[in-house]
Amino acid sequence: MALALNTMDTTDHTPIHTIADELSSDMRYPSAPELQLQLATILQTTLDLETLLQLFYEEIADNLGITGLAYRSEDDKIHIELGLTAEVTCSYRLTTPESGVGELKFFLNDTPHESLLKLLEISIGALLYPLRNALTYREVLKAALTDQLTGAGNRASLDATLTREINLSKRHSQPFSMLAIDIDWFKKINDNYGHQAGDEILKSLVETIEKPARSTDQTFRYGGEEFVVLLHNTTRRGAEVIAERIREAVEQQTVVVLGEALKITVSIGAATLDIQDTGKSFFNRADQALYEAKRNGRNQVVCSTQPQRVDEVLV
Ligand code: GH3
Ligand code: MG
Ligand code: MG
Repeated sequence: MALALNTMDTTDHTPIHTIADELSSDMRYPSAPELQLQLATILQTTLDLETLLQLFYEEIADNLGITGLAYRSEDDKIHIELGLTAEVTCSYRLTTPESGVGELKFFLNDTPHESLLKLLEISIGALLYPLRNALTYREVLKAALTDQLTGAGNRASLDATLTREINLSKRHSQPFSMLAIDIDWFKKINDNYGHQAGDEILKSLVETIEKPARSTDQTFRYGGEEFVVLLHNTTRRGAEVIAERIREAVEQQTVVVLGEALKITVSIGAATLDIQDTGKSFFNRADQALYEAKRNGRNQVVCSTQPQRVDEVLV
């Protein structure tokens, strides 16, 4: 059963002392000022969105008997669930005078009484501004790791992600592959059609690259017209198939810039993580394969051979 969607608007507050008076008779719950103080103290300790919601959930699960919590922000494509779902739900759309900050859904074992609903609203009041600050912080962090022109990850983001993903892949013995992609003869596009046309091509290339990849795969711009795609849980054969799909999609795409229909091709080097690889050696193998694709005539995919093992080298 879902209760009607409530809209929480901070501009329309019932004075807290009135609510506190009404609630003082229900001994199952903390008083409204107590709850407010506890939440305010805890929620100011972090700017990280996941941690903030976890702290909020733990506090209200203990005090108000909530089984679970779901937070969703369509604008930022965020969906976080904590605890357990239940039949009874109670949803709030959160707004500050400046903007919407998503939607919060509580999961409950029973239909809530008026006193519990009031405490839920008080909890949301305490969460609202810490939540807005966490979302702003998340935006700033994202901007620092994103290439402004294309929206792909930037070099700093690639370095951090690569190290993390290599460790994860080795720990879980999962295959992990990488594509290094470079536009063919890109200088000519700039020379013939201007830098702005070049920029438009870079933007549309990222969209084309991301289509054949899965949503968990990540694209990074690590040089002017050089991109890396990290392919999670992907074998050498899988990487080859995805690389070929990307190469074909780029070849078939036409970008209209300033009334001109332009076409480009890309060369791609693919590498699959070997147990001996460091981030550097892994990247170098993809880059070497890319170099070979260029040397062989461009508009093609070359897969890196696995590095020779030390014992093979010694024999
Ligand atoms: P190749 O097939 O060997 O890769 O040839 P290429 O012309 O693509 O390679 P080269 O590395 O010589 O040239 C890359 C060009 O990319 C140089 C520069 O004009 C262009 N470029 C680099 N960054 C940007 C950018 O941000 N915007 C635009 N429009 N062009 C860029
Ligand atoms: Mg280049
Ligand atoms: Mg190039």
